[in-house]
Amino acid sequence: MTTTTTGSKPERDALSSTTVRVPSTPSLDVARVRADFPILGRTVNGRPLVYLDNAATTQCPDAVIDAMSDFYRCCNANVHRGVHTLSQEATEAYEGARAKVAHFLNADAKASIIFTRNTTESINLVAHAWGRRHLRNGDEILLSVIEHHSNLVPWQMLAQEVGCRLRFIDIDESGHLRLDQLDQVLTSRTRLVAISHVSNVLGTVNPIPTIACAARAVGAKVLVDGAQGVPHGPVDVQALDADFYAYSPHKALGPLGIGVLWVRRDILEEMDPFLGGGEMIRDVTLERSTWAPAPAKFEAGTPSVADAVGLGASIDYLESLGMDEIRQHEVRINAYLLERLRELPFLALYGPEDPSDRCGLVAFNDHQIHAHDLGTILDQHGIAIRAGHHCAKPLMRRLGVMATARASFYVYNDVDEVDTLVDALLAARKVFGLST
Ligand code: PMP
Repeated sequence: MTTTTTGSKPERDALSSTTVRVPSTPSLDVARVRADFPILGRTVNGRPLVYLDNAATTQCPDAVIDAMSDFYRCCNANVHRGVHTLSQEATEAYEGARAKVAHFLNADAKASIIFTRNTTESINLVAHAWGRRHLRNGDEILLSVIEHHSNLVPWQMLAQEVGCRLRFIDIDESGHLRLDQLDQVLTSRTRLVAISHVSNVLGTVNPIPTIACAARAVGAKVLVDGAQGVPHGPVDVQALDADFYAYSPHKALGPLGIGVLWVRRDILEEMDPFLGGGEMIRDVTLERSTWAPAPAKFEAGTPSVADAVGLGASIDYLESLGMDEIRQHEVRINAYLLERLRELPFLALYGPEDPSDRCGLVAFNDHQIHAHDLGTILDQHGIAIRAGHHCAKPLMRRLGVMATARASFYVYNDVDEVDTLVDALLAARKVFGLST
C-alpha cells in the first residue's frame, strides 16, 4: 500500500480540523479487533462478509452483545420507580451509561445528556422543545445543502409552523462548505445554525468551531448533527462550542434503538418537554402537571435500558481502541481507498480529495452502471455497500445525480477489503460487458 503523505505521529484532531496526516503505520490491530465481532465470521452469498455499510449502521462487538444479554439475564427491571433490588440495579446501570456518555463527549453535566431513540429523534426534540418556544415569524435557521433529511425535515416542519425562514450554506467543487458565504447568510435574524459534523455522503469533516464562532457573533445557537462525527474521532462538545449535539450509538459499535442528545446545561431550563407521560413530571393533578428537572423532563415513559447498557459498553470498547487511533486508522484507509478508486477511469468520486479532510467513506458512481445494480452485484461478492440518495436528496440534486454508491469503513475494516471492493467493481463491469 502506498499513501499520499506520511508523518510519523499524526497530530491530535478534534474532528474539526484537517491536521491529521496519513499515518505510515497502522494505528489499530485490525485482526485482533475483528475477532471481537462475531458477525464478521459469517458468509454472504458464499463469500466472507465484507461489511462496508458502516455509515448506515456498525456491528456490535461481543462486549456490547454480552452487556445487553447480561442485563436481561441478571437485572432486567424498570428504572427509577422501584424500591426493589433489581430496579435499583437497572437504574444504576442506566444512569451509569449516562455518566459514560457525558465523560465520552466531555459534556458540561451528566444531566445534559438526554437519551432518545436516534439522531433523528434528538433533532426533533430540539425542534419541538427549544425551537417552538424560541423561534418566531421572520426568524432564520441556517442549514447547509449537505444535510441529512434528519437535520432538514424537522426544521422545515418548524418553519412551516412558526413562519421562520430557512437559509443554506452551499458547498464548493471540492465538497467543502462555502464558509465565505457565512457573512451573507448569517444575519441578526439567525436564531439557530444546524450543521452536520461530518457529511454522510461526501465524508467532509466540517469546521464546527469556526461556524460556531460566526453563529455566536450574531447571537445564534448551534446544533451539530453528530451522527457521522462521534464514531470517527474524539469529540469534545464544549471545545466545539456547540449548544446541541446529537448522535446515534448504532453508528459507533452500539445497539440500535438508542440515541443521544447533549444540550448545553444552561439551555435545559429554556426548553419545554418533548413528550408527556410518566417519569417526566414533578407533580400531576387532573388538570395540570409540572415538570421534573432534566434529563427526566425529556425522557417520558420507560426508556431502552438494555440499549443504554449496550451503549455504555460500546463507549468502553471505543475508548479501549482509542478515538485518536480510530481517526488515524480511517485516514489511512481513506488514503488507500481514494488511491485505488482513482485508478478506475469509469468511476466518479464525490467529496474532498485530501483523505485527512474526510471520514472513512467514499461515495462514487460508475458512469455506466446504476448504483443500485452495483450494490446488488457487490452483494453477490459478499460486499455490503449502500446505494441510493442516502437521505440527502437536496445534496444529490446539488451534485446532479439521482443516487450514488457508498462504501464506508470502520475499525474492523482493513486495506485488503479495499482491494476486494475494487476487484468486485471490475467484475461488475464484466457482468455488463463494459471495458475496464
Ligand atoms: N445525520 C446523518 C449525517 C446521518 O448519516 C444519519 C444516518 N444515516 C442521520 C442523521 C440519522 O441517523 P438515525 O437514522 O440513526 O436517526
